Amino acid sequence: MRYSSLLACTALTLIATTGLAQADDVTAWRLFVADHAEAKVTAIDLGTDATLDTFALESPGVLYTTPSNQAVYAVEGAANRVSAIRTGIEIEDHGDHGDIHVTAPETIAATVPGEKPVHFVEHHGQIALFYDGEGVARLVSEKDWLDGNDTLAIREIATNAPHHGVAIPWGDHVIATDFAPNGETTRPQGVFVYDADNAKLGDLHECPLLHGEATSGNITAIACATGLLIVTGSGEPAITHLPYAESLPEGSVSTLLGGVGLQYFLGNYGADKIVLIDPAEADAFRLVELPTRRVHFAIDPQQPKFAYIFTEDGKLHQLNVLSGKIAKSITLTEPYSMDGEWSLPRPRIAVAGGEIAVTDPLKGLVHIVDAASFELDRDIEVAGLPYNIVAAGGSGATH
Ligand code: ZN
Ligand code: ZN
Repeated sequence: MRYSSLLACTALTLIATTGLAQADDVTAWRLFVADHAEAKVTAIDLGTDATLDTFALESPGVLYTTPSNQAVYAVEGAANRVSAIRTGIEIEDHGDHGDIHVTAPETIAATVPGEKPVHFVEHHGQIALFYDGEGVARLVSEKDWLDGNDTLAIREIATNAPHHGVAIPWGDHVIATDFAPNGETTRPQGVFVYDADNAKLGDLHECPLLHGEATSGNITAIACATGLLIVTGSGEPAITHLPYAESLPEGSVSTLLGGVGLQYFLGNYGADKIVLIDPAEADAFRLVELPTRRVHFAIDPQQPKFAYIFTEDGKLHQLNVLSGKIAKSITLTEPYSMDGEWSLPRPRIAVAGGEIAVTDPLKGLVHIVDAASFELDRDIEVAGLPYNIVAAGGSGATH
């Protein structure tokens, strides 16, 4: 772990708090909850816990947010499009503080169509959507999308074949997966770097069975069967391969999250383990054993030293990413067995400021846990099967 990152983060927090003390400080968080079966998203005002609106999608969606917190993106795989909902929370940078503008959430007209979109990646204000049915990445500027024009400038990178791929915007460059048809997997064999003219630069960077990528600070990591690709650099990306440590048991990472405020990565590793990764350390991998199989996990952008893991026994665990130990656990739901299809309705986690929201689809509830005490604070009822969840919000001055 880089302790300097944590110190820098604390200093920033202190500066922001001091700056805001002179103005009216407003904190606003909203939850956006997608239903497991119905094509809808429910927007909830956290605090009053009132439903602000319900948005119709064309198919059930998987939700994403970006560091801007200004929109929620719904990947509607079965409807062959990606759509966006304005969160209605905007923090305007005033240098030493931010001003918060809170308005009603609303649908943004522009959508990005294409065959079978799955993976969504935001990097430095650009969004890359990968359409598995075509093997095509479509890149848009988040600012353009937020401007709400119904025509959106789309940059297309056509890879060699349809596959379960991903693309990562890297300034003018793009990193996109490449597939070798083999009759066994739809996962990529590696990535190519594309230049500003969408031409391939250099050779394939091998990454067998690639699945999962994340960014933490100035490092992006991509998970492979053999280890991680580590991407750094401004301008043309520099890509190196970090093999899994000999000390790790048989396994690999296929879902990656990136720390915010602290530079680290958190990945799955087998059904009942996760792994903390610091590419800067000689001993880069720290395995964390879980009591039962893992359902979902999330990093905490506001309390940087914590991440959360929900396990099939109905428990939410608080992981201290510095010590690599599970510090606290609470039971939130009935057991949600990981036996059966991966796509069955099971809990998902979102962190909203000082609160952790966990969906409980079979009970029609969102459980709200206080991040400081790590105790259940209250439940919010959501009609249907509340499943995918994201949070958007922040604090700012109104003056
Ligand atoms: Zn201001
Ligand atoms: Zn995937």
